[in-house]
Amino acid sequence: AWILIAAIVLLISVVALFFWMYRAMIKQRKIAEIKTDFANNITHELKTPLTSLNLIVKSFQNEQLLQNPEMMESLIQSMSRQNNRIQQIFDRILETTVDNPKVNWENIEIVQFLKDHVKDYQSNTHDIGLELEPKELFLQTDSYQLGRVLQNILQNAEKYSPEGSEIWIKGKERQNEYWIEIHDLGRGISPAEKKKIFEKFYRVSQGNLHDVKGLGLGLYLSKQIIESLNGSISVESQIGKGSIFTLKLPIS
Ligand code: ADP
Repeated sequence: AWILIAAIVLLISVVALFFWMYRAMIKQRKIAEIKTDFANNITHELKTPLTSLNLIVKSFQNEQLLQNPEMMESLIQSMSRQNNRIQQIFDRILETTVDNPKVNWENIEIVQFLKDHVKDYQSNTHDIGLELEPKELFLQTDSYQLGRVLQNILQNAEKYSPEGSEIWIKGKERQNEYWIEIHDLGRGISPAEKKKIFEKFYRVSQGNLHDVKGLGLGLYLSKQIIESLNGSISVESQIGKGSIFTLKLPIS
């Protein structure tokens, strides 16, 4: 009987070892996949500004153009825009190496803050509506950091929904929390992808190619920020119908 027990224990250990090795292998493969995807995404993101800069540098070899002050001015402005874009991409990557976003606590009136934010946001592709209640509510938060989260979510709502479709923000008070919902009528997110989209570098793949640019960092950073503000971020979505991202912030 002892031999039988020993054999069973040995068999279980071998099976467990194989299972563990198999899981480790899958994990390694997943990491390799994420790395390749990330390298592809960065290349994709940098392509446009670098191509533009290349063209601008070539135009500087054109004698006629060098004598036209208006053209020169427009080229310099365009150079500066592309340069800023590249800077933003690197800043975003660097940010992910810092664990906790720095919070400057302040008392802000959230309803006016949302109105101002949407006014300054100025979308080129969508109209952004507002449905805010109550009239006035004060929160302890960090307006700069909260603004960055709203910016990320609004940019996604634009990127992943058809041009001209409706995007709207609802603000409401719910049991000691202020809820900010960002609604879009875009492509939506499947239940399986819902948890993963908040992970670092994760992007939902559309076949093998991404038709929309991105690094898969916006929602990861947004979650880090909202949690530093003692709040939470969640999503409800239906494929092909649209998504609602909800930010919940504590009132007291
Ligand atoms: P990025 O947009 O750079 O890929 P994010 O971290 O902001 O990275 O988003 C992760 C993924 O979540 C995106 O690749 C996209 O597939 C999905 N996603 C985010 N917002 C939306 C949205 N409003 N509608 C549909 N899919 C979305």
